[in-house]
Amino acid sequence: MRLSGLTCVIADTADSAVHVSNILSFGLLNVNKQLERAAKMIADAVHPVSFSGAGLSAESGIATFRDRGDEDALWSKFDPQKLASQEGFLADPEMVTAWYNWRRKTLSEVQPNSAHLALAKLHGWTHITQNVDDLLERSMDLSGVDVSPILHLHGTLLEDHCNANCGHTELIDLSCAPALRNCDCGSYMRPSVVWFGESLPAQVLQTALQKTEAADLMLVVGTSAQVYPAAGLIDIAVEKGAEVIVVNKEPSGVNGAHVLELIGPAGELLPQLMDRLACYMPE
Ligand SMILES: [Zn+2]
Repeated sequence: MRLSGLTCVIADTADSAVHVSNILSFGLLNVNKQLERAAKMIADAVHPVSFSGAGLSAESGIATFRDRGDEDALWSKFDPQKLASQEGFLADPEMVTAWYNWRRKTLSEVQPNSAHLALAKLHGWTHITQNVDDLLERSMDLSGVDVSPILHLHGTLLEDHCNANCGHTELIDLSCAPALRNCDCGSYMRPSVVWFGESLPAQVLQTALQKTEAADLMLVVGTSAQVYPAAGLIDIAVEKGAEVIVVNKEPSGVNGAHVLELIGPAGELLPQLMDRLACYMPE
């Protein structure tokens, strides 16, 4: 594994008091020890993977779906059965398409946050995400590193495909997404995101399973680990005995002998973790 653009920083207590001011459940010394331990675990990993959820992109201004206490969470304001199901799409395809185009426009106007930029420094990792945005790809681009293939378990907002699955796909300009239209086969075009009742994309899921089963470390970022089957990948990593580091703003419920949980904003914790990791890595 290589790291770039990082300087070894061991924060002293005074600096840390500023950086970890929003971290909720551990004392300051404890957080520093946990970060140190997590950095050592990452440095020792041979086949690491990351697994991210909505909490990773929330700090960029992308709404989560069902966060407790988040009044802007999408499913607290909108009906998922109307907006994220085949039945809802067929009942009102123009409205559903317009709703996704509103989310696309929002995505075009936000930027990767410091958590994305920290993950982008982990060269050679397999990145698995539940997010349908491209902020991790953009963070790699901004960092000047090769854009690693990212496994989008729940699809992507950057593509439409034929609702009859004839095989036709189209890349979407986020800032200017087209309104509802037909595929050449006559069916509607629809966003390439996974709706309720649909299977995860088979090839993506298979690759994610293979990488998870081979992983000796999983870094879990910004997910409550409650949406299955995607969250089942965390269970596999735990059961296989991989080291699992969870960075989440609240306890995730992931349990196991090799699970280390860091509670706080990913945008604060991940950059600190990368600073410590740099101390273990060759120049
Ligand atoms: Zn078609």
